[in-house]
Parts: sequence; structure tokens; C-alpha cells
Amino acid sequence: MQEFRVRTGSRTQLIDITGKVCDAAEKEGIEDGLCVVFCPHTTAAITIQENADPDVVADLLKELSQIVPFEDGYRHTEGNSAAHIKSSIVGCSEVLVIEGGQPVLGTWQGIYFCEFDGPRSRRVLVKSSTTC
Ligand code: ZN
Repeated sequence: MQEFRVRTGSRTQLIDITGKVCDAAEKEGIEDGLCVVFCPHTTAAITIQENADPDVVADLLKELSQIVPFEDGYRHTEGNSAAHIKSSIVGCSEVLVIEGGQPVLGTWQGIYFCEFDGPRSRRVLVKSSTTC
């Protein structure tokens, strides 16, 4: 299993980690199989989204914050319930197909780390397997 860190710079942010995931997948040494990108945090997430127009991820963050406002009379006293809810909506992992040692992605797809309670230093785990 590979691990790398992501330093986030604001409360909510999507960071393109495609290059880091590809490097980690290559280090795993699996030519053909599956790769799980996993975020071991309850206030962050992993998603695949368009990486050509940065307005796409800006709109995604904006709409998520409209669906899940930062303040809404939440019971969780830590004050970051919105981040926990967004993490569950988006999900803490993605599964990628590996061919020729690299993840298969569409032309406009990038892999994003989703920060919902930053800024923080975060971990991302990458594990590949030849079995499906
Ligand atoms: Zn919390």
C-alpha cells in the first residue's frame, strides 16, 4: 500500500491528486487490476471530476455548501457537521481500473481530494490488486 499527504489551504477545497495517485499506482507495481484510492478521514472525500475547467469543481463546492449549510442547528458539538455530511455524500474512496500500470481515466477526468474541514494535513492511501 502507498501513502501520500495532501496539505489543504482552506476550509473547503478540491485538490487535483491525479499525478500523485498515478505515481502511487506505479509504485504498487500492478500491471492490470484495480486500485482503491482511500481517504482515512471523516471530514474529507475522494472524487473523480472534470479537470479542464476549474469552474466545475468551484461549482461543485458551491452547490454542496448550499445543500449542506455550515450552520443548521446540528447536534455534533465539534462544529463541523457539515463537513461530516459532505464526506458521506461524496464518499471516502474511488476504485480505478489499472491497465499497463496506470489508472484508466477519461480525457477530462481528474482525481480530486475533497477538503471539507480544512486547512489540514491529510493522508491518502492507494492500494492495488490484480484480483477483481
Ligand atoms: Zn466532527
